[in-house]
Amino acid sequence: MNDLPLYIGGTWKLSVSDDLLNVINPATAETLSRVPMASRDDVHLAVTNAQEAFKGWRRTPVTERSHYLYAFRAKLEEYFEEIARVMTLECGKTIAESRGELRRGIENVEVACGTPSMMQGRNTEDVSRGIDEHLIRQPLGIVVAITPFNFPGMIPLWFLPSAIATGNCFILKPSEKTPQTAAWLIRLLHEVGLPAGVVQLVHGGKDAVDALIEHPGTHAVSFVGSTATSRYVYAKAGEHGKRVQCQGGANNIAVIDENAEIDTAAETIADSAYGCAGQRCLANSLAVTVGGAGTMFTEAMTEATQGLRVGYGLDEESQMGPVITPASKASIEQTVGLSQREGGRLLVDGRGTNVDGFEDGNWIFPTLVDQVHPNSTLATHEVFGPVFGIMHTDHIDHAIELVNAQRKGNMAVLFTRDGAAARKFRYGVEAGNIGINVGVAVPMAFYPFCGWKDSFFGSLHAQAMHGVEFYTQTKVVVEHWPGA
Ligand code: NAD
Repeated sequence: MNDLPLYIGGTWKLSVSDDLLNVINPATAETLSRVPMASRDDVHLAVTNAQEAFKGWRRTPVTERSHYLYAFRAKLEEYFEEIARVMTLECGKTIAESRGELRRGIENVEVACGTPSMMQGRNTEDVSRGIDEHLIRQPLGIVVAITPFNFPGMIPLWFLPSAIATGNCFILKPSEKTPQTAAWLIRLLHEVGLPAGVVQLVHGGKDAVDALIEHPGTHAVSFVGSTATSRYVYAKAGEHGKRVQCQGGANNIAVIDENAEIDTAAETIADSAYGCAGQRCLANSLAVTVGGAGTMFTEAMTEATQGLRVGYGLDEESQMGPVITPASKASIEQTVGLSQREGGRLLVDGRGTNVDGFEDGNWIFPTLVDQVHPNSTLATHEVFGPVFGIMHTDHIDHAIELVNAQRKGNMAVLFTRDGAAARKFRYGVEAGNIGINVGVAVPMAFYPFCGWKDSFFGSLHAQAMHGVEFYTQTKVVVEHWPGA
C-alpha cells in the first residue's frame, strides 16, 4: 500500500504520525493509497522550513517568481491527462469534469503569471513641497490553504499561484479524501525547480488544521469547505490574529421566469444540478418557477433528470459519477425521504440504484422533487448530492424573496427573456455570483469568486486582484530629501 508522503523543505518525507486513513475510489470502493493525519510536529517542521525559505523567496524578483509559474503551467499541460485521471479516481467525477476542473485551475496559474503588473503599488509626488508618498505591497510571510474534496485540483490552484507569485511561502492542507491530486501539483512544482520550502504539502484533518492556524509562524489562512467548518476556521483564525478568507457551503436557486426558453433552461439547469453528482458549490439545487412556467419546466426537468447516464468516471460515456462516501450517500438519501415527509412530491427517485460492474460504488442517481416547501429541509440545507427541488410562485418579486430568504448566498441564476426582470434580479438578489440564462455562474480566474452571506466569511475572496490583495500587506512611505 502506498502511504502518501508530506512535502517539506523540498523533499518527500513520511509523516511522524502513524494515524493513516484509506483514500478510497468512490466508484469501486478500492483503496488507492493511505493518507497520514499529520501531527503538530509535522506542521512545525513545515512552518520552520517555510520560514527559512521566505528569507530568500521574498527577495527573489517578482518576474523571476512568475517564471516558475510559466514552467509549472507547461508541466500541468504536459501531465494534463494523468492528473485528470487521478482526480476521477479519488473524487469520482467524470473524466470530462476532471478535465474541465483542471483547465479552470490552469487559468488561475495563467492569471498569476501577471503578478508583476498586478502587485504594483501607487505613488504621489509632492504630497507636500518636496515630499513624496509611496504605497508598496509586500508579502505576508507564511500562508496556509485548507481545501475541500470536491475540486482537488482547481481549488488549491485558486490560492497557490497567487500566494507564491506575491512572494509568500505556502503550505497546502488538502482534503484527506482526495489528497493525491494535490501531491501531483506539488510534484510538478518540484520538477520545475521551485526553491525548497516555498511550497509545502501537509496532509491531515482537524488536528493539522488547528496546528497550522495556531502556529505563531503562519500569517494567513485561505479555507474552502462546508459552512460549519468555515465558521470554525474563521473564528479560530481570528482568535489567533491571522488574516483569513473562508468560502463555505451553498444552496443555489434558479428562477425560471414565465417567458423563459423552458427546454434550454431545463437542460442547462440539469447540467448544473447533477454535474459532479451535485457536489459543486455552484450546483443549482433548487428552482423557483414563475406563473405558467411551472408545469412546462417540471415536465422538461423530469425528462432531463431521467436522461442522464450514470457510470464510472473513467468511462468517457458517463455523464455523472458517484458521491464521495457511503456516509454522504446515506445522508443524501435520508434528505430525499425527509423531503417527502415534508410535503414534496418525488418525481424521479435515484435511491437504491446501482451501476453494473460497480456494485460497491456510492451511487445515487439524479433525483427530482416537486412542490418543495420553502421551509423544508431540502429548501434550507445544502444536500451536496444529485437532488433537485422545485418550488412555484406567481410573481418574480416573490421568487426573489425566496432566493433572499436563503441563509447562504453563493450563486443565484435567472432564466428569462425580459431585460427588466434580469435587471431587477441582478440588482436585488443577495448572492455574490449571478447568472442570467447561465446555469453555473462561475467567475473566470481574472474575477473574484464572490460568495456572500453564509457562503463566505471574510472580505477578500479567492482569485484575481482579491488574491493579490489578500496575500500582500500595504506599506506607505513618506519621503523627503531636503535640497532635491
Ligand atoms: P469540509 O468542510 O468537510 O472539509 C474542508 C476542509 O476542512 C478539509 O481539508 C478538511 O480536512 C478540513 N476539515 C474538516 N472538518 C474540519 C474541522 N472540524 N476542523 C478543521 N478542519 C476541518 O468540506 P468538504 O466536504 O471537503 O467539501 C464540501 C463542502 O465545501 C461543501 O459544503 C461545498 O459547498 C463547499 N465548497 C465551497 C466552495 C466555495 O467556493 N464556496 C467551493 C467548493 C466547495
